Amino acid sequence: MIPLDLHPSGRHFLQIPGPSPVPDRILRAMSLPTIDHRGPEFAGLGKKVIAGLQQVFQTKHPVAIYPASGTGAWEAALANTMSPGDALLMFETGHFATLWQKMALRLGLKPEFLAVPGTDAETGLPNAWRRGVDAALIEQRLRADTQHAIKAVCVVHNETSTGVTSDIAAVRRAIDAARHPALLLVDTISGLASADYRHDEWGVDVTVSGSQKGLMLPPGISFNALSPKALEASKHAKLPRSFWAWDEIVEMNKGGYWPYTPNTNLLYGLSEALDMILEQGLPAVFARHQRWAEGVRAAVCAWGLPIQCADAAVYSPVLTGVVTPAGVDADALRALIHARFDLSLGTGLGKVKGRMFRIGHLGDCNDLTLMAALSGVEMGFRLFGVPMAGSGVAAAMEFFASHPQQQPLQAAA
Ligand SMILES: *Cc1c(COP(=O)(O)O)cnc(C)c1O
Repeated sequence: MIPLDLHPSGRHFLQIPGPSPVPDRILRAMSLPTIDHRGPEFAGLGKKVIAGLQQVFQTKHPVAIYPASGTGAWEAALANTMSPGDALLMFETGHFATLWQKMALRLGLKPEFLAVPGTDAETGLPNAWRRGVDAALIEQRLRADTQHAIKAVCVVHNETSTGVTSDIAAVRRAIDAARHPALLLVDTISGLASADYRHDEWGVDVTVSGSQKGLMLPPGISFNALSPKALEASKHAKLPRSFWAWDEIVEMNKGGYWPYTPNTNLLYGLSEALDMILEQGLPAVFARHQRWAEGVRAAVCAWGLPIQCADAAVYSPVLTGVVTPAGVDADALRALIHARFDLSLGTGLGKVKGRMFRIGHLGDCNDLTLMAALSGVEMGFRLFGVPMAGSGVAAAMEFFASHPQQQPLQAAA
């Protein structure tokens, strides 16, 4: 027997920073019949989604699509550009940066893990997990690498475990200032199509992304956006690769096909998502997320709780981390909120486990879904006995009511 509470009334509030809520329009597009992936119709779909992705990554160069989660695209980025034993410079911004660094170790690479040092006095949490990438530290390290042993700099653009969006253009400037030939590899799995991201302009060599965050799709496909320098490096890179190899994918993509069976129904969904995003226009999409983030931060400030990101210059437009008071187990609080209000919040990961939770504000959201999520949190605080300085719900209502969306919700056709 299926327990009845698997079918509660009303919608579930999926306010985690990915998978994000999927719009009905995308779910309907995905329900079309699966077609022949070598047939004539398919080429149109393949070419359309690649061209649309190029617009979203803001690149003129190839974008590889894998039927894999974001983790697969991380592996693809390294396997295509690196050789066994290559040195990498990675930057600790949180849990996802740490997982990518562990993957590099498992692949037989030699990652050095830079971090902002020290512990934060306000929360006792590591400074590195409350701040963005420090480009000056990267420049300093690259200047010391006079033999150019470091083959790539790897950073996470939107660190989903903390809610910090690092300045990628500054990392590019640091590499150039050090006159260092390292490739720049960037994870924007949770930033793409929510936070401004410019693959070509920022001189990124490989951008890694995924479907289930800003693109509003279910999990299951992921991406590598490439640069000519990355493609050139892949010709000499010696890590073993077959499924992930760019050469055959890029070649077959020219005709709109793949060397393997692509995830046809997710590509229907991607096609619909790209229509939605590009119809609205990237600037409007980015502004929408910035505004939501500001409203949610207004709530957190009114509650009197620290925002996990301690640097206002790098607040994430995608999610906000909320640090719970000392002695309040954030996971027990989340469990209570889930049980009582059918609201999913993001768990604290890695070094901040139990100390914070995350509110996602991406995907198929609007002011009122966010108000509902904030109400669930505030009711949870009351039930759990978390002291609050004031009402976050009232502060967010005030913010959303007094700050209308700057651009129209739907661009005129
Ligand atoms: C979600 C996420 C990942 C992992 O992607 P999966 O699809 O879970 O494999 C990696 N990096 C960041 C920044 C993420 O948000």
